[in-house]
Amino acid sequence: MSDYNWCHGPSCHKNKTQDRIRGVKGSKVLRTRKIAINKWNQNTVWSHFCSQGCYTDFMHEHWEEFINLHPRTECLETPIEDPKKVRPYENAQWFNWEIKEVVDNA
Ligand SMILES: [Zn+2]
Repeated sequence: MSDYNWCHGPSCHKNKTQDRIRGVKGSKVLRTRKIAINKWNQNTVWSHFCSQGCYTDFMHEHWEEFINLHPRTECLETPIEDPKKVRPYENAQWFNWEIKEVVDNA
């Protein structure tokens, strides 16, 4: 197994930063960033994306494929107790809604 991944951002190699420049004089390129796998990024998306921008670009380019892979055909629901109107602190002039999930002790 390699100890690095190439960034999966579809436009990573188009970002004009000095660290992406490779090649010899007269034949330079901007290259996709190489991401070293380490204990902080292993098992996270940051082992495959060099930046939030590359992550977002990838998502924008491939979101339809992800939706097809993981379709949601029904809504999800979280059981809650009846919401209560509570003052955020004593003598507050407004109320907040206290919404608590039902604790399932089964
Ligand atoms: Zn990147």
